[in-house]
Amino acid sequence: MASQIIREWSGINTFASATQKKLLELLGKLKQEDVNSLTILVMGKGGVGKSSTLNSIIGERVVSISPFQSEGPRPVMVSRSRAGFTLNIIDTPGLIEGGYINDMALDIIKRFLLNKTIDVLLYVDRLDAYRVDNLDKLVAKAITDSFGKGIWNKAIIALTHAQFSPPDGLPYDEFVSKRSEALLKVVRSGAHIKKDAVQAASIPVVLVENSGRCNTNDSGEKVLPNGTAWIPHLVQTITETTLNESKSIHVDKNLIEGPNPNQRGKLWIPLVFALQYFFVMKPIKGLIRRDIARESRPAWEMRDAGFRRRDLY
Ligand code: GDP
Ligand code: MG
Repeated sequence: MASQIIREWSGINTFASATQKKLLELLGKLKQEDVNSLTILVMGKGGVGKSSTLNSIIGERVVSISPFQSEGPRPVMVSRSRAGFTLNIIDTPGLIEGGYINDMALDIIKRFLLNKTIDVLLYVDRLDAYRVDNLDKLVAKAITDSFGKGIWNKAIIALTHAQFSPPDGLPYDEFVSKRSEALLKVVRSGAHIKKDAVQAASIPVVLVENSGRCNTNDSGEKVLPNGTAWIPHLVQTITETTLNESKSIHVDKNLIEGPNPNQRGKLWIPLVFALQYFFVMKPIKGLIRRDIARESRPAWEMRDAGFRRRDLY
């Protein structure tokens, strides 16, 4: 692969100094664990704030954002390095078109990811939405079918537009937990993850506010209505997810061209049937036949079958 010059992650300098300090600490933690680069895949429906979130993390307006969902059809990878650490973030177009999964967009994303390793999946949606629907389920299912269930062990749900006042005087934290639970439920069902599976419980939810009008605290850090400085919190969650015990997802030819990674086991079914036939059914049939041949039949059965008593003795 041609080596490319990766630009310095100078956008960090635009953050409040308290935020900068926390981010550099987290990068130090990753390096301590021998992680010198990290690739985040950003996915979700169109217009939810995927590109804006990438720009917020990088601290530059690198990818274009649009209120009218006129996203380019291709994914874009943005790489920045800082203190010997490289951060790659892959922005993708929304997967839904006309109420269905855009299979072509999905295919382009998969091909773009060939030979790359996904350390974190950032699944983006909006906080200020009141319902989840079948589309959310379709997106979760498309991601699972493309990369396997394991990708959810490396997932974070990011909810944008987090500077928001819930309706009817509902407390902020209560709204956040209700919205998170509803989304987690639909993601679990689209991803075919059982509720009690450990992985489902461990998908963290983080809040994001990309607006330039995001409130700040006394140190100038961008904060949410609950007081959390969201950029360090997001990067901390990314660090924890990177370092968790699950393996990153390497996208190879088999993964994108082979059968659905969740159905691979099904290829063994005909072989299992064949083995069952030769090693279980056939010997049993043989034994039964031998048994029948050896069987001394009762007199009444022989008589009913047309033998006379004389023939028997
Ligand atoms: P994408 O299609 O998922 O990449 O979404 P974009 O990043 O292009 O954002 C769609 C629109 O939502 C743009 O007009 C953004 O300015 C706006 N937007 C994105 N995130 C936020 C956010 O956290 N808060 C607010 N207020 N607007 C946002
Ligand atoms: Mg976009």
